[in-house]
Amino acid sequence: MDSDSKTVVHIGGCHCKSVRWKVVASSSVVAWECNCSDCYMRGNTHFIVPAERFELLGDSEKFITTYTFGTHTAKHTFCKVCGITSFYYPRSNPDGVAITFKCVDPGTLKSVEIKHADGRNWESAYLQTGIASYSKVQK
Ligand SMILES: [Zn+2]
Repeated sequence: MDSDSKTVVHIGGCHCKSVRWKVVASSSVVAWECNCSDCYMRGNTHFIVPAERFELLGDSEKFITTYTFGTHTAKHTFCKVCGITSFYYPRSNPDGVAITFKCVDPGTLKSVEIKHADGRNWESAYLQTGIASYSKVQK
C-alpha cells in the first residue's frame, strides 16, 4: 500500500440500485482483470476485500441471484432486475468478496491499478498472483 492511500468506506451496487452495498477498503486498490470464461464475457474487473469488510444494504439480498459453473466454487452473483454483477464470491478467495470497481459510486476510489489474472489457467495463476492474500485482514 502506498503512503497516500487510506481506508475509506466505498458505497456501490448494481445499475438499477436494487443491490446496494458498502465496503471498507483502501482508496487505492488493485483490480484484477480476469480472463476466465465468465469474467471475460462480463468484462468484470474487480478488487478483493475480506468478507467481513463487505455489507449488503437494505433489502439487496432479495434481488440477488447466483450463477455457478465448473467447480461451482465461485458464486457469480448478479442483480435479478438489471443483470449487473456488482460483486461476487470468487473461487480464489473463499474468505473474500470481489467488488466490481466500476460499480463503486464515484468519489471514493482514488486510484485503481489493473492487474491481469489468468483465470483460464486458474491453478497456475492462483499461485503466481498471490491473489489469495487480498482477502486477509491487514493487521
Ligand atoms: Zn440491478
